[in-house]
Amino acid sequence: MTRIALVLLAVLLMVPVSLKGADRKIQAVATIPDLADMARNIAGDLIDVTSLATGVEDIHAVPMKPSFAVLLNRADVVILMGLEIEHAFLPALLEAARNPKILRDAPGYIDCSVYVTPLDVPTRLDRALGDQHPVGNPHINLDPVRGKDMARALADGLTRNYPEYEATFKKNLDTYLTTLDAAIARWEQEAKPLHGIKLVSYHPDMLYFAERFGMEAVGTIEIRAGVDPTPGHIAELQERMRREKVGLVVRELHYPAGLAETIAQSTGATLVELPAMVGGVPEAKDYLSFIDYNLRTVLKAVQKGT
Ligand SMILES: [Zn+2]
Repeated sequence: MTRIALVLLAVLLMVPVSLKGADRKIQAVATIPDLADMARNIAGDLIDVTSLATGVEDIHAVPMKPSFAVLLNRADVVILMGLEIEHAFLPALLEAARNPKILRDAPGYIDCSVYVTPLDVPTRLDRALGDQHPVGNPHINLDPVRGKDMARALADGLTRNYPEYEATFKKNLDTYLTTLDAAIARWEQEAKPLHGIKLVSYHPDMLYFAERFGMEAVGTIEIRAGVDPTPGHIAELQERMRREKVGLVVRELHYPAGLAETIAQSTGATLVELPAMVGGVPEAKDYLSFIDYNLRTVLKAVQKGT
């Protein structure tokens, strides 16, 4: 072997094996398991997808690990909820990952909120107040109808990167949306006993769920998204709950139990504990079972409270 051939061989060996071969799968990183599940439904065998969060975390504060930057460095696409919900961890991880394919505004940056018009958009942007929802309420995954919008944006994002698989993505998306539609019709039927029921949650993440199933989210234990309660705020909340006959207190499982329990007890409301994403409880193993679990848990709590 000549010197030149040896040098060429050495250069070839430096190219990771994963970059060669036509049957290589799309390497995807999703921020939350809900999106990983949707990506598997849409891309099937064409994709290998890893979720950064396991589902038990606070989505506004998923703890960063060095392994996340490695995953993102090797990824073809990153799949995110958007609306700044991943603000506390994703921008820093993308900077560390040094992967131009998945930077914001690059084709591999798949923002699943692009077809959703968020509610509660602040009239004035002021991060100094500690607001975790600077561009509106980002907890769209708790509403299965907005979940359909997320799946559509995901499929379009994958097609933008892999136009050669467009027909497969479209077929799989259509099947997935049909399954979701059937489930939504069933859930809306089952949710009838919830109509008009008022709830208070720890964090303002129940807005879309409440609206979908005819409930009313009237307040939060936090003063505002990401701002811890004060005794004055709690006293005011309890007073309002008694006055407005609020029947439910939702504690999202990543928030402390004690305060939510005390507030429920002192106002005669029923406490209900819910995951905020897929994987938050063992029963919520995919997006459909997640919505199913939340709806059933709320229904049980309401039946218990009446
Ligand atoms: Zn939030």
